Amino acid sequence: MDEFELIDRYFVRSPPAEAHGVMLGVGDDAAVLEVPAGFDLVAAVDTLVEGRHFLSSTPSRSVGHRALAVNLSDMAAMGAEPKWATLALTLPAVDAAWLDGFSSGFHALAAEHGVCLVGGDTTRGPLTVSVQILGLVPRGGALRRGGGRPGDLLVVSGTLGDAGGGLELARSGPPADAATAKLIERFDFPTPRVQLGLAARAAASAAMDISDGLVGDLPKLARASGVGAHVSIERLPISAPLQEKFNAARARDLALAAGDDYELLLCVPPVKLQQLQASAERLNLTLTVIGELSAESRIRWTFHGEHFAPQVTGYNHFG
Ligand code: ADP
Ligand code: MG
Repeated sequence: MDEFELIDRYFVRSPPAEAHGVMLGVGDDAAVLEVPAGFDLVAAVDTLVEGRHFLSSTPSRSVGHRALAVNLSDMAAMGAEPKWATLALTLPAVDAAWLDGFSSGFHALAAEHGVCLVGGDTTRGPLTVSVQILGLVPRGGALRRGGGRPGDLLVVSGTLGDAGGGLELARSGPPADAATAKLIERFDFPTPRVQLGLAARAAASAAMDISDGLVGDLPKLARASGVGAHVSIERLPISAPLQEKFNAARARDLALAAGDDYELLLCVPPVKLQQLQASAERLNLTLTVIGELSAESRIRWTFHGEHFAPQVTGYNHFG
């Protein structure tokens, strides 16, 4: 199978063209996309490297899913509706079984979110997957990190630490119980909170997705907003499977510092909380208030009212 047969077989899918604004998709030198009047184009790219972002034992279906999911999560964090993606794939060799899994994981999630794969690049080298995502927001309506104000509530979606726990458990082989399987599933198949991001546009003052862990990510949001924050660590939402597989201190550290959950961190003025809670309920998603933004310029962590210094740090490639 050569490069072009590979692209044809695994990545060309007939797009419901006009409906998706695809004037020209895979097959030319570049894609041509129609941005409707009154919308801003929102762009992001994320790369997954074998051995860095996933294990060699990670199923290829998961790699395909995650490569798109982490980008969809960036759209969610911006309150953008994802529309188009491009895929730069570097493969050590053509492995049909691997490509079957990878492409089915990718296309399944793309279909779920109505995203069209409109181009890419295929090269030989160490296994690396880059996806670029393009989405739309009504003009001026993107959710940013910098809109938080003192007094806004700090809200997270879902539960934290599961994917980090799953990654740790996956290192010691296939899951032996339901809780382990659940946590590994959270690492392998993260759910980007796209619909929540869209709903948050009307309620949140600022947003980001937690990809590198709360301890590392919250300061980025606070800095961008020019505010401080207080977090009550005992409020962090920790799932039953995480509690089952890890002791309380370890579960707390995973919830604080592990990335890969791709939950949203939202700043919500108190008067908007109920509205956002109602949207989350419709999406079958829990929201948890973990603290609030403050006028001081530091992050304060407390555990049942006592000062707490996290002994863990967020993920940093060159840290
Ligand atoms: P070029 O030589 O202009 O860079 P290529 O020959 O690499 O284009 O690719 C041919 C076509 O296939 C282009 O339209 C490109 O966008 C698309 N393509 C290449 N690799 C992928 C991929 N992994 N997924 C989707 N489309 C791809
Ligand atoms: Mg070309």
